[in-house]
Amino acid sequence: MTTFIIAGIFISVFFYIAVPWVHGRWARILLKRRAGKYNVLALTFDDGPGSRLTPAILDILAENNGKATFFLLGKNIAGREEIVRQIAEQGHEIGSHGYDHLHYWKVSPFRAIKDIKRGWAAIDAALGNRGRYVFRPPYGKLNIFCLLYLWIHRVRIVYWTLDSGDTWQMKCDSRKIAVLTKEAGGAVLLAHDFDRSDSSVDDVIIDSIRATLAIAHESRLRTLTVSQLLER
Ligand SMILES: [Zn+2]
Repeated sequence: MTTFIIAGIFISVFFYIAVPWVHGRWARILLKRRAGKYNVLALTFDDGPGSRLTPAILDILAENNGKATFFLLGKNIAGREEIVRQIAEQGHEIGSHGYDHLHYWKVSPFRAIKDIKRGWAAIDAALGNRGRYVFRPPYGKLNIFCLLYLWIHRVRIVYWTLDSGDTWQMKCDSRKIAVLTKEAGGAVLLAHDFDRSDSSVDDVIIDSIRATLAIAHESRLRTLTVSQLLER
């Protein structure tokens, strides 16, 4: 009896976590190949919008004629709806990063799917329309129910190929990012544009984005949204 229970738990955990994990690894490999094949730098920003950093990033992108994807966190949208509209008006892609930044391995399927829906609803409310936005799982983690839910709704799940390390200021090394992007012939870069308690980090991130865009320009990489990359 105990053996059956242990086997049951093992199989459940395997399907709940392992299948989406394998999907995520495979998706990242394909993404890396595609970015390299088409020489694309897809800048992606998670956890925003931020009151300070997002407008600054929009200005840099406009100066460089580049497009990016913003994976908005539903709970950060309230009070920043105008910024969400600016992102859309300037031709960037709006994606969702869920509502509450939950780790979907650690919560029930119902809570996880509810979080996905709330994230979309928050964007809808800001934009005044109804959409199904490309989705980046918080922490890059999905459970099997979320994966199936997103598949059924034909929603693109987008990971990244290069982490800027900007969650920790000291790890944000723009020179390293630029070199790695150049070597790979392209990348889907993960960065973050939410409001940090230490606003001095914003300057580090802005410098890093400027340096990465300069290298992209030098290496003749196109700066596109993730959907523009995936539709090539
Ligand atoms: Zn995040």
